[in-house]
Amino acid sequence: MTTIDTIQMVDLKGQYLRLKTEIDEAIQQSLDNADFINGTYVRDFQRDLAEYLSAGRVISCANGTDALQIAMMGLGLKPGDEVIVPAFTYVATAEVLALLGITPVWAEVDPLTFTLTVSAVEKALTPRTRAIVPVHLFGQCADMEPLLKLAAERGLAVIEDVAQALGSEYRFADGTLHSAGTMGQVGCTSFFPSKNLGCYGDGGALITSDPELGERLRMIANHGQRKKYVHEIIGINSRLDTLQAAILSVKLKQLNDFNHRRRLAADRYDALLAGVPGITTPVRSPKSTHVFHQYTLLVPEDRRDALRLHLQLHGIPSMIYYPLPLHLQPAYRSSRFPEGSFPVSESLSRRVLSLPMHTEMNAGQQETIAAVVADFMKDHPTQE
Ligand SMILES: *Cc1c(COP(=O)(O)O)cnc(C)c1O
Repeated sequence: MTTIDTIQMVDLKGQYLRLKTEIDEAIQQSLDNADFINGTYVRDFQRDLAEYLSAGRVISCANGTDALQIAMMGLGLKPGDEVIVPAFTYVATAEVLALLGITPVWAEVDPLTFTLTVSAVEKALTPRTRAIVPVHLFGQCADMEPLLKLAAERGLAVIEDVAQALGSEYRFADGTLHSAGTMGQVGCTSFFPSKNLGCYGDGGALITSDPELGERLRMIANHGQRKKYVHEIIGINSRLDTLQAAILSVKLKQLNDFNHRRRLAADRYDALLAGVPGITTPVRSPKSTHVFHQYTLLVPEDRRDALRLHLQLHGIPSMIYYPLPLHLQPAYRSSRFPEGSFPVSESLSRRVLSLPMHTEMNAGQQETIAAVVADFMKDHPTQE
């Protein structure tokens, strides 16, 4: 079999070449300004992202993991407090809790959208619960309305992990649309290069519409100071470089187009893979737009790894996000959550397979990928 061009999981080079003139100009401008720390581009980007999201305030920081840590610190969470986190997510969400001595308490996810459910959160509640962290996994929002209602009733903070879903919108029962990251007390996002809005290094941001909390978050990200050399609270050093902000200022203007391109690619995959026996294509929540950070299939677990190998033999990359739920990760195992505690999360980790997904995909590549998937599934029919 011949492929016309190399298929990549994420095509950062192709996207850069398409936007090269503007990005190069912004980088050059930033070099000319020589304001490398907290420069003009940083201030402008924070303002522009806040405006894009209709949020009160955006505070940029060094990466998405720091954003989560700063959020937990800003909300005053303390050792011994419990925070509810989906068992099926990227480790960063829970890592910062453990680092701060806060106990991550896992909760099950929805088998169709892979996001936190209100019934799972109810099961995980204890008198020590202080906050919940819905993760808008793979690009669509968790079902926020019931989660926000429960949190309000119980006096819990809601920290949205929006690292994979920037630009996604959630619809409340009253018809109003809200951007991912603006519904809880704080939204935390990442500008890691492969995210929907990615820079060319590390970057992250916090989103909030609470001015007081926003001020505290900004202080924590900057050594706990409001005024230089006056450290009112204990903070960290977490900054978005001006150079990265310059790149992001160009790419933010493209975010809707990026997400549109991803959605088109997802529609094409859906059509090409419809009816392939054994393959379940992503389920789209009726309440949220999907920005397809990942296009994740469900494959019967007896064939998932073999399909991945088969794709690899045909020069097609694919990834398993995530091969182990967090309660089964060596660093996070505890007798409180033995194997079997979260059957959905455990089953997903054995069935998920993410296909190449980015802003530069073309129909030919997707036809090739879908044909290889379909061939494999035809040759390896269901055993049951
Ligand atoms: C990428 C990601 C993070 C962490 O972002 P970094 O910038 O890599 O620190 C956190 N949560 C989720 C769900 C992510 O996908």
